[in-house]
Amino acid sequence: MSSRSNAPPKSQNSRDLGARIKQEARRLGFDLAGITSPDPPGHLEIYQRWLAAGYHAGMGYLATSRARSRRADPRQILPEVRSILVVAVNYGPGMVAGDARVASYAYGEDYHHILPARLQRLVTWIEQAVGRPVPHRIYTDTGPLLERELAQRAGLGWIGKNTCLIHPKGGSYYLLAEVLLGLELPPDQPFESDRCGSCTRCIDACPTACILPNRTLDAKRCISYLTIEEKGAIPIELRAKVSQWVFGCDICQEVCPWNQRFARPSADPAWQPRSFLDPPTLADFLALRAGSWRAPLRNSPLERPRRRGLVRNAAIAAGNLRDPKHVPQLTHLLTADPEPIVRAHAAWALGEIGHGQQALSSALEAEGDDRVREEIRLALARRS
Ligand code: SF4
Ligand code: SF4
Repeated sequence: MSSRSNAPPKSQNSRDLGARIKQEARRLGFDLAGITSPDPPGHLEIYQRWLAAGYHAGMGYLATSRARSRRADPRQILPEVRSILVVAVNYGPGMVAGDARVASYAYGEDYHHILPARLQRLVTWIEQAVGRPVPHRIYTDTGPLLERELAQRAGLGWIGKNTCLIHPKGGSYYLLAEVLLGLELPPDQPFESDRCGSCTRCIDACPTACILPNRTLDAKRCISYLTIEEKGAIPIELRAKVSQWVFGCDICQEVCPWNQRFARPSADPAWQPRSFLDPPTLADFLALRAGSWRAPLRNSPLERPRRRGLVRNAAIAAGNLRDPKHVPQLTHLLTADPEPIVRAHAAWALGEIGHGQQALSSALEAEGDDRVREEIRLALARRS
């Protein structure tokens, strides 16, 4: 990616301008770029049925009436919108693996911090090109847009059975972002074919069987949702299926033949592993402390579940790994952590590893939180 200025000529017809905008997007570090119309999304009915069935789990912000009406028509977000520019940036995979697993997109910077600034530079370039301010709105999965459908309509790929946008020459490890533009541009040809064919590898590999028909997921059972968005206890029956994942899950992308054939590591400095995740280890996650946890994770997607979510997840992963080396850290969390959710999952993990009975028995006497006491009782019962 170059930051060199690329001043645009002002006299261009709209087809030429659309091509130049996509060229400039690629110069700014976006691997894919396409243009679509602001027509209402064709997948809206499927999406509304998904919400009605409660598959969005605790993500209530998706189901507010304001979010629903804005998703139904991009003009409700920006009345002047005439075109939508969709861009995608490759983020991996090929990250270093430790005994803790982290979704590939989360090793470096939080894309919510990186992509809007790049897109704002693109908008500045567009305004110079047309010689006037252009009404616009920038989104990086934060807004009320069905962005994978927009990407498909803009010709960037098809929506796979694993719900990801898949490019036929690049796979699915892409971050998507959009710019609504008050500017008439010729739309690209939608990507019409479904290249999943009879393949079901992602459905077969998903540990929690949460991939639904119609290219949707039951978020309540998806490891990505559980490890990132879920604020409370992880359901006991799903903990073993979380395996070593401490943040997110890439399994349905890893098994996809389009990724196995075409995915390539990103060279973008923004997505390279920070030192805390080079490699990610359960010992490091279990050692995160209340006053200092944020420092090694600043501006990382891993800030979202906060310390209590990350340590909860690491305790589950340690319980699944059953390596006695984690018993001292788990015992400390069980007896001294200020967060009940952490103490509860440390108790579960000790029960899985089969060590720390004495600590569990002592903690049961000292523990004042009913939910933690119940987890300790269950852990002791599994070992008796
Ligand atoms: Fe299943 Fe993991 Fe994919 Fe979620 S992210 S659908 S849990 S394989
Ligand atoms: Fe489609 Fe197979 Fe990839 Fe799943 S694994 S998204 S079914 S090609």
